[in-house]
Amino acid sequence: MKTGLDVIHEGLYVSECCLQTTRFAKDQTFTRCPKCSALTVWEVIEEDEVTQAA
Ligand SMILES: [Zn+2]
Repeated sequence: MKTGLDVIHEGLYVSECCLQTTRFAKDQTFTRCPKCSALTVWEVIEEDEVTQAA
């Protein structure tokens, strides 16, 4: 997921540029890479179980 997009699935993500792991919560916005401050792409490592309201 690119910087600036909304987080759809809460979970642990890693930045493509620096392999910096960060947790994003649902409805947050993907930030720039915290390490190099560049626009980046976040790859999901571990998606939390989404508690979907039935
Ligand atoms: Zn980076």
